[in-house]
Amino acid sequence: MSLLQLEDLVVGYGAFPVLHGVSFTVDEGEVCVLLGLNGAGKTTTVATIAGLVRPWSGSVRFAGGELGHKSPSARVASGISLCPEGRRVFPGLTVQQNLKLGGWTRRKHSGIVRDQLALVFDYFPRLAERSGQLAGTLSGGEQQMLAVGRALMSRPSLLLIDEASLGLSPTVARVVWEVTHRIKADGTTVLMVEQNAGALPYADKALIMEKGTLTYTGVGEQVQQIDLREAYLGA
Ligand code: ATP
Repeated sequence: MSLLQLEDLVVGYGAFPVLHGVSFTVDEGEVCVLLGLNGAGKTTTVATIAGLVRPWSGSVRFAGGELGHKSPSARVASGISLCPEGRRVFPGLTVQQNLKLGGWTRRKHSGIVRDQLALVFDYFPRLAERSGQLAGTLSGGEQQMLAVGRALMSRPSLLLIDEASLGLSPTVARVVWEVTHRIKADGTTVLMVEQNAGALPYADKALIMEKGTLTYTGVGEQVQQIDLREAYLGA
């Protein structure tokens, strides 16, 4: 069943269109990777789903309902969480404080916040070891783990991750990508935006975007057999 459905989405900034009629679905319980080069429109896509950018036309449906003009915070409350490009952790707060802020929409349900915190520490033991450390003093990889963890604190049904691998070594990027399988197994559907095709082995579905248009969609076995030179690099 589709958890997320984008239909003919047209989005732009000022007078300039960036997405030219993008349509795709993400099924419940899958890890989907949206791959594309710089400026393809990947961030614009997830920002639109998160409600940070308003589409010119087209629709975004989530869990069977039209998101329309729903605010970003209402989208978080309804189960959509974004881990933004560039991590954006709060440097002057500790790891644990950053995580607790991510659970703000669940603050009246202390049991959920406690469970999510335990889950995040289980996914990323490095964060548990550093729970009292200021986020600004963490390594880039640890900050990325923290950003993903913070986004998980609201117990989303859909987690959007924007370029987790940016600036990370291949080994650390793999740590983050590998966790998506556990996140999926624990009931959260994942849509990852990536420039790095190294994320493909972790995906159940792959979408390739070029200049605001989807040029390829593949599922299952097809994902592992993508001819990247043709599909991604346009060779
Ligand atoms: P990257 O991998 O470099 O982050 P991307 O695929 O995520 O790229 P977007 O960030 O969505 O691409 O950008 C798509 C286009 O929209 C680019 O040409 C960019 O300059 C433009 N753009 C993005 N945000 C804005 C904005 N706030 N105002 C004006 N133009 C923008």
